[in-house]
Amino acid sequence: MSIIELDNKYVAGTYKRFPVEIASGKGSILTGTDGKKYTDLGSGIGVTAFGISDDAWKSAVIAQLDMVQHTSNLYYTEPCAKLAELLCEKTGMKKVFFSNSGAEANECAIKVARKYSAEKKGADCFTIVTMKNSFHGRTLTTLAATGQDHFHELFNPLTPGFVSVSVGDISELENVLASTKVAGIMLECIQGEGGVLPVPEEYIKKIREITEDQDIPFIIDEVQTGNGRTGKLYAYMNFGIVPDIVSTAKGLGGGLPLGATLICEKMQNVLGFGDHGSTFGGNPVCCAGAISVIERLDEEFLKQVSEKSRYIFDTLSNARGVESVSGMGLMIGIKTEKPAAEVVAKCIENGVLCLTAKDKVRLLPALNIPMDVLEAAVKVIIDACA
Ligand code: PLP
Repeated sequence: MSIIELDNKYVAGTYKRFPVEIASGKGSILTGTDGKKYTDLGSGIGVTAFGISDDAWKSAVIAQLDMVQHTSNLYYTEPCAKLAELLCEKTGMKKVFFSNSGAEANECAIKVARKYSAEKKGADCFTIVTMKNSFHGRTLTTLAATGQDHFHELFNPLTPGFVSVSVGDISELENVLASTKVAGIMLECIQGEGGVLPVPEEYIKKIREITEDQDIPFIIDEVQTGNGRTGKLYAYMNFGIVPDIVSTAKGLGGGLPLGATLICEKMQNVLGFGDHGSTFGGNPVCCAGAISVIERLDEEFLKQVSEKSRYIFDTLSNARGVESVSGMGLMIGIKTEKPAAEVVAKCIENGVLCLTAKDKVRLLPALNIPMDVLEAAVKVIIDACA
């Protein structure tokens, strides 16, 4: 049996995989088992921030593997403590809880918001408001937070206490706040799975104002937008606000599973002994890799992310067959005249791997993709769109 046949036979059929079998890679180039080379503009859905088998990341991971690969959270390890320090120093947050995925980072954020609000306003203050068209994960709680009904079908009952409102409609949000005890508001600054749609800055600022006035935890889901993806360390830094809680994952671990929930000063002591936990959370190997990612996301590096973004926007906005380009930094959605799936299939044929999000072609290249590699790949996209 081929690997594809074996996978189709034994792996649960939850993923619509492309007919590409990856053997290896380096940087932004992946090699198939048939020897075909692909330029990777998806980076494992925004995960391999510094590309495949990046030397600095690999050295950090291997050095840690040579010492100890896991200890449990019963003991202290340096990478976990150092990564938490780095994240707090770069964001001004005060505590970090480590988990293994974006969904878990959001679960923790929701627990912090609910406990903070329950202690301040009573146990009946538990509702979390999220946005329509959002995506927050696949667990039963983060599915409840996800404002897209089609993900919910046949999995009910989901965790109760979630309401979703339309992005940009402040009066709808104010009506919910007037009629419901709200324990938190959660949003993505740019809806990724929802079609790479930035949320209007004025709306985000207004929510910050309301949540400050009413002492409601404001959670920003930075699972996809975080860790340099938008040209700032975290996307909220483009929107002139500071949230109370930040959840992140994907690019943080650079390719190993790691989630983090960053908690502000006011809420830093909400989680106490026994309130939350994770066997693998804060794993020293994952954290060692993450330190090598976060340490390199300085001003100069992030400027290059923005420059590459500008190049993609400028080049694709005027291309034949492209209706519009959305997003920020190296998180880009392309509305094409042809169906997105057709464009992506054509790109694969010509050696470029792209993603889709709703009706768009989506690009999430490695943040350090070399300019010449990017230019050649954009040419392939242009040809596929025309
Ligand atoms: N939140 C956002 C904004 C995401 O884009 C995703 C995944 O795409 C998640 C949460 C869930 O992350 P994970 O698949 O790591 O659980």
